[in-house]
Amino acid sequence: RGKRAFIAGVADDNGYGWAIAKSLAAAGAEILLGTWVPALNIFESSLRRGKFDESRVLPDGSLMEITKVYPLDAVFDCPEDVPEDIRTNKRYAGSAKWTVQEVAESVKQDFGSIDIFVHSLANGPEVSKPLLQTSRYGYLQAISASSYSFISLLQHFVPIMNPGGCSISLTYIASERIIPGYGGGMSSAKAALESDTRVLAFEAGRKHKVRVNTISAGPLRSRAAKAIGFIDMMINYSIENAPLQKELSAEEVGNAAAFLASPLASAITGTVLYVDNGLQAMGVGV
Ligand code: NAD
Repeated sequence: RGKRAFIAGVADDNGYGWAIAKSLAAAGAEILLGTWVPALNIFESSLRRGKFDESRVLPDGSLMEITKVYPLDAVFDCPEDVPEDIRTNKRYAGSAKWTVQEVAESVKQDFGSIDIFVHSLANGPEVSKPLLQTSRYGYLQAISASSYSFISLLQHFVPIMNPGGCSISLTYIASERIIPGYGGGMSSAKAALESDTRVLAFEAGRKHKVRVNTISAGPLRSRAAKAIGFIDMMINYSIENAPLQKELSAEEVGNAAAFLASPLASAITGTVLYVDNGLQAMGVGV
């Protein structure tokens, strides 16, 4: 049978998660999605109404099938963690079983196992504030949504991953180089994510024969990136200064993820793979 993939962090057809889902589907994988609870209704109704049909087209002309969409909020590990104001919030009250533990249990019940786990989500409430002005709350939220969410999801999904399986997350160069504007502790969150990729590669590799890698992606005009406010500048900077002077497409990141998830990458784990037109290799802009 083909492989089964769970992709956490898809709520429209503009981001990296959607593109990764498409590349995996084109390679024959079955697609399960985890969608942030407050974005679930509009995502599912747009899917039903055919709003994404054009962007569901795969290279062979068929449409990507999404087998199931699970509501997910990756900052809550189990029902006991959910505070009253979230539980009773009207954007959450319509959905059930959306904590990390419950989603993994549901996937296990529905399908038994998965082969590929993708983490394509991040959130930092103070991303537009410089680190020097970031509050403790904002910093910890950034780490919770963007870094610990990966640990928690892997913790709960690894037991249902088949040996030889693989997990992939998305990171950004701001973890290791100064990118003014990527604030609120998001740079710190990406540094944690990359470090955790190495440690989790060891632990998940030894215990479950599961590979763990992260893709350091160049700038893309996604919903999340537009919210940060400097995405057009970053795209233009890359086109001007990177070795490959073209706009990066989400599909190029999707294809790299499909490679990492495939047997072609069976010896690759614990790595940060740059898919950024080579920008990370530059020392100065020319
Ligand atoms: P996106 O908006 O498509 O994806 C982010 C997703 O995270 C959204 O669907 C959002 O609903 C979801 N999300 C936020 N908080 C959540 C939570 N608590 N639980 C569950 N889901 C939650 O934007 P994107 O830019 O494609 O982001 C995907 C990944 O790519 C992120 O890790 C991001 O940091 C990374 N990345 C993006 C860029 C870029 O320029 N866009 C560059 C490098 C890395």
